Amino acid sequence: MSDLAKLTLDEVHALAMEIFAAHGVSADHAGALADTITAAERDECKSHGLFRVPGYMATVKSGKVTPDSVPTVQDLAPGVVQVDARNGFAPLALKIGREPLVKKARDQGIAALALVNGYHFAALWPETEALAELGLVAFAFTSYMPCVAPAGGIRPLYGTNPIAFAWPRAGGRHPLVFDQATAASARGEIMIHERDGKPIPEGWAIDPDGKPTTDPTAGLAGAQLPFGGYKGAAIGLMIELLAGALIGDVFSYEAGANDNGDGGPAKGGEFMMAIDPARCAGGGVNGREAQLAHAEGLFEKILGQDGARLPSDRRYSARQRTPTEGVTIPQSLYESLQELRNG
Ligand code: NDP
Repeated sequence: MSDLAKLTLDEVHALAMEIFAAHGVSADHAGALADTITAAERDECKSHGLFRVPGYMATVKSGKVTPDSVPTVQDLAPGVVQVDARNGFAPLALKIGREPLVKKARDQGIAALALVNGYHFAALWPETEALAELGLVAFAFTSYMPCVAPAGGIRPLYGTNPIAFAWPRAGGRHPLVFDQATAASARGEIMIHERDGKPIPEGWAIDPDGKPTTDPTAGLAGAQLPFGGYKGAAIGLMIELLAGALIGDVFSYEAGANDNGDGGPAKGGEFMMAIDPARCAGGGVNGREAQLAHAEGLFEKILGQDGARLPSDRRYSARQRTPTEGVTIPQSLYESLQELRNG
């Protein structure tokens, strides 16, 4: 028997929906979560696809997350909207917050969204890409559990703290998006290496004694390392401040201390910014066209170099294939998802 199970994207979505419904997750949350998970499988972002479902379910089973929470929206300032996830998962709260954020950004040129009191267990590109599809430049920042040592330290303090950026493009092209952890790797990638019995690359983690390791289990027990040494650590620190102190939510180490250790995400915040490029261009529509064309000139220069590609092009090329080819997941994951589907 193959050690991979093959699914269509519709089957991915249906399987996720059935599992969430079997555990009392509200239809609104189930839909938002299943959309996010299916998008990750579609774009071959394996560490945020069906692989995450057992973690989501752990939080529901342990009673940590409110599976039928109804997010609330509050206008904090002309340029700031807050969405309180009310102890629920982030994707629904982000979906609800998108419209007021877009309106504020278009009205004023720039606006921010503060997502508080939520559980983010997904990639950040879906929320930034969605804003760029609407013509806005977008940034997103979130912190996570304490996993990453500060520069020079050996104990976990920062989360893997991803940052995402999206730029809308002319001519019906998909937005340019990058979305990266400020750790040398996403934690999910180390977990996947552990699951598959593979060593992790050097530079991803240190063991509990602070020694460099390629053993994923030792790395998960010790601390992850920031990318780029102290430079990546500084960006991780900035994200702690933006997604924590700035918006009145927790730092990663506080999220870790508050968490019940059920294996799912911890509660925390996310900070987003949206900019209407047309309001920055000057010169009205012609200015906007020149702005878009100027950016395309840069992208052409990048692509003109052998071996170079744009961030997100790997995802977009997967997106072309997977609707017809389907996706594969490990058979062991497929079997544990079948068990979850049965309640
Ligand atoms: P990767 O290192 O895989 O990729 C980071 C970015 O770099 C992507 O946008 C990727 O584009 C781009 N990229 C990769 N290779 C190249 C290349 N050769 N040339 C140009 N661009 C390139 O991501 P990470 O492992 O750092 O993070 C994975 C995910 O984990 C992210 O989506 C992040 O949001 C998520 N995460 C979520 C957390 C949470 O708490 N919710 C915590 C930490 C991480 P492409 O996709 O096209 O390859």
